[in-house]
Amino acid sequence: METSADVKKVIGLLKGKKKLIAMLAPSFVVDFKYPDTIILLKQMGFDKVSELTFGARIINKYYHEIIKKNPDTMFISTACPVVAMMVKSQYPQYAGNLMPVVSPMAATARILDKNYPNHDIVFIAPCPAKKEEAKIYGKLIDAVITYKELKQLIEYAQENKMIKPKKVKSHLFDRFYADYTKIYPISGGLSKTLHKRDILKENEVIVLEGPAEMQKLFSSKIPKHIRFLDVLFCKGGCIGGPGVNSQEPIEARRAKVLSYLELAKHEKMGKRRGMIKDTEGVEFNTPKKYIGNKCFTECERDF
Ligand code: SF4
Repeated sequence: METSADVKKVIGLLKGKKKLIAMLAPSFVVDFKYPDTIILLKQMGFDKVSELTFGARIINKYYHEIIKKNPDTMFISTACPVVAMMVKSQYPQYAGNLMPVVSPMAATARILDKNYPNHDIVFIAPCPAKKEEAKIYGKLIDAVITYKELKQLIEYAQENKMIKPKKVKSHLFDRFYADYTKIYPISGGLSKTLHKRDILKENEVIVLEGPAEMQKLFSSKIPKHIRFLDVLFCKGGCIGGPGVNSQEPIEARRAKVLSYLELAKHEKMGKRRGMIKDTEGVEFNTPKKYIGNKCFTECERDF
C-alpha cells in the first residue's frame, strides 16, 4: 500500500516523543464515522482530537464586528485558499475586499497552540490546498493530510499494529469544538452561522460556489447594495473537495453534515466547547488600517 510523504510525516510524528493534536475539519463525516474516528485517532496515538468548528465560531465574531464597523464596504468572505488566491490574481480590483480575518484552520491552530504549547498539530482536511495555506503560518501546523491520506494512514496503522485497543476516556472531542458551525464546509454555511440579522439584510448577501459563478459576478458590475459574498471553490463547498474519498452525490454528503449537526445539538459540550477567555491574546484579524480598499497583499492571509 502506498503512503504519501505527508502520511509518512504523520507516522513519524506518531512514533516521536511529542504529544499530538489531530485537528479535524467538520466535513470529515462525509468520509468517516462520528464518534468512531475520534476513538480511532486516539488509539492510534493522538493525545487530543479537536475540531475547526471552534475557530469558525470565534472568527464569526470578528466578521460580525468588522461588518458592523464598515457599513459601506462589500466584503468577500471565504475559508478557501483557492478563492482568496483567485480573487487576488484574477480579480485584483476586489483584492481589498477580502475579509482580513484568518481562516478557521489558522484560528483553531492558534488557539490550540496557545493552550497546548507543547503539542504538535496535525490538520486533517478535505483539501490539498490547505497544505499550501498552512505553510504561511510557519511552524504553527506541523502536518496537513487530506481525508484520502487519512484513509492511507488508517490502513498503515492497521497493518503495522499501531492501533492500540486501549480504553479511550471519552468518545467526544477534546477542547475545542462547537456545534452550529459544523455547517461551515457546506456552501453558504459561513453566512448562515454568522448571526447576521442585525448587521446584514438577506438581499445584501450572495453565496457563490465555484469559478464559473465567481467569474459571472466579478466580471459584471456588482450591485451597490451587495455587502457580503460567501464564496467557496468546490461544488457544494468543502464537502466536494479534492481530498475527499466519497463518490456519493453532493446532496448525500450535505445530508451527512446536517445530521452530524443535529446530533451535536443534543450533546453536552460543557467545558470542552472552549471559552472566549481561551482565545485571549490570540491574533485573528489583520490591523484595522487594512480593512476596506487597502491592498490585501499586506494582510496576513497572503498566499
Ligand atoms: S475543499 Fe474546495 S472549497 Fe474547500 S478549501 Fe479546498 S478548494 Fe476550497
